[in-house]
Amino acid sequence: MRVNKAFTEITGYSPEEVIGSTPKVLSSGLHDKQFYDAMWETIGKSGTWEGEVWNRRKNGEAYLERLIITAVKNDAGKVTNYVATMTDITSSKEASEEIHNLAFYDPLTQLPNRRLLLDRLKQALAVSARSGRYGALLFLDLDHFKTLNDTLGHDIGDQLLKQVSVRLSACVRKVDTVARLGGDEFVVLLENLSSKAVEAAAQTEIIGTKIQASLARPFTIGSHQHHSTGSIGATLFLNEEQAGVEAILKQADIAMYQAKDSGRNAIRFFDQDMQDAVIARANMEHELRAAITQMQFKLNFQPQVDYEGAILGAEVLIRWSHPQHGMVLPGEFIDLAEDTGLILPIGKWVLNAACAQLKAWRDHPYTKNLTLSVNVSAKQFRQASFVEQVQSAINHFGINPSLLKLELTESILFKDINGMISTMNALRNIGIGFELDDFGTGYSSLQYLKMLPLSQLKIDQSFVRDIAIDSNDRTLVLTIITMAHSLGLEVIAEGVETQQQLEFLKENGCDHYQGYLFSKPVPLDEFEALLQKN
Ligand code: C2E
Ligand code: CA
Ligand code: CA
Repeated sequence: MRVNKAFTEITGYSPEEVIGSTPKVLSSGLHDKQFYDAMWETIGKSGTWEGEVWNRRKNGEAYLERLIITAVKNDAGKVTNYVATMTDITSSKEASEEIHNLAFYDPLTQLPNRRLLLDRLKQALAVSARSGRYGALLFLDLDHFKTLNDTLGHDIGDQLLKQVSVRLSACVRKVDTVARLGGDEFVVLLENLSSKAVEAAAQTEIIGTKIQASLARPFTIGSHQHHSTGSIGATLFLNEEQAGVEAILKQADIAMYQAKDSGRNAIRFFDQDMQDAVIARANMEHELRAAITQMQFKLNFQPQVDYEGAILGAEVLIRWSHPQHGMVLPGEFIDLAEDTGLILPIGKWVLNAACAQLKAWRDHPYTKNLTLSVNVSAKQFRQASFVEQVQSAINHFGINPSLLKLELTESILFKDINGMISTMNALRNIGIGFELDDFGTGYSSLQYLKMLPLSQLKIDQSFVRDIAIDSNDRTLVLTIITMAHSLGLEVIAEGVETQQQLEFLKENGCDHYQGYLFSKPVPLDEFEALLQKN
């Protein structure tokens, strides 16, 4: 019947265009029939309705209005017409979002601010307490930022901060948080790192180094080329009890000052032990690279024997003759080699050295049937070229592939089981045998075991060790043997150290044995001497 001037301003319709129509002309199509039905039901009952409605302007744009509809009644109490009052609240919605942004984000860089960071850190602590995985906080302060600001002006300073924020975000994964605390202080929150402290520290250091490298590239600001570095303090966190969010932030801050003190453009950990561990790891990585080019590795052989003690072959175990530290055991460097990818050249070397040994034994009656078991790590096995590497080693040395056995651990099966099975099948077709190492310690389901082309299970030494003292372990060993046999697999026990353990294993039908009782892993000449005696 009537509209006012404000109606025309909000909707774009002149009175002439709408008088005589129903309010339907404003409908946005964004509400369903139930919405309007409920509205009319309320008006019918109480004579009024109030709420937010999406309508559409004449120009097609949808807008949000706060609408109040009131029924007008005559003296007889009969509804004669309705009055609707509306307020366009589209812009106030936008304003409240902006307020939210201002509360949680830094307006200059759009990064989360201190408040949101602390909130996320709190969540990260809770998650880490549940998952047992470390998180880390990196506190970054740009070196000499104040000088830049003072000499070239705040505008240039702001530009630099914006570019830094883009680079920082590119250094981390999606799940991580990059925040700006203010000034030239940034904080990076890393989540879901390793459950081992030293590994988590190494992962943190890798990101820290990546950030440093990213900052080291020159920044172009207007016509200026600017070079920047940053000092980074890092701290790890694990569970909620350990420290509150403010305390963790403080630790990273303190570590950052230590980094600055040590001459800037550095990374320092809050925890001195962590700092030492990270440095030791970096040194070892460096040395490990040299070890590969300088051929500092050698193989030891540990005999694998049958029921009667006859040597059937050996497991080859790598040793590193370090120029200063002497003999280094694989437990000290295999993890690092895995993390850094150095396991690939190392593993390839082991594989070739084992094949070369099989070739050397090929033509002697006492050695020509000896088998060699080679440990293959997950990363190595997952290489696309792995089958080809094995095939070409076998061809190159002209050996009988059935003498080569690969020892895999259950952890290999975690990712992409189908891919693993097809790689195993390809190798199996060449004639290679597979053993499942450390059996019983990992995640092994019968379902998987049945699917894998294995020839042997290797009972982990922890079960063998406790045979004499723990009846649960005795039951477990017995079960593994029975189960393996019913799946058509042979069983080897590793870590056999005593006659008592051997007797128990023998009684229960274990097929093969390996352990100090027979021999420690020994260099080639000693192994050949053992063969002679055997
Ligand atoms: P693993 O494959 O489980 O190897 C068996 C480990 O148990 C060897 O330690 C061996 O010396 C030790 N051992 C053997 N018999 C006994 C025993 O009767 N009692 C006790 N207490 N220990 C025994 P090692 O040589 O230090 O190797 C440790 C691990 O390093 C191996 O565990 C394997 O996972 C890894 N490794 C060794 N060589 C290689 C390699 O060439 N490539 C890869 N990827 N990993 C390797
Ligand atoms: Ca092994
Ligand atoms: Ca083992």
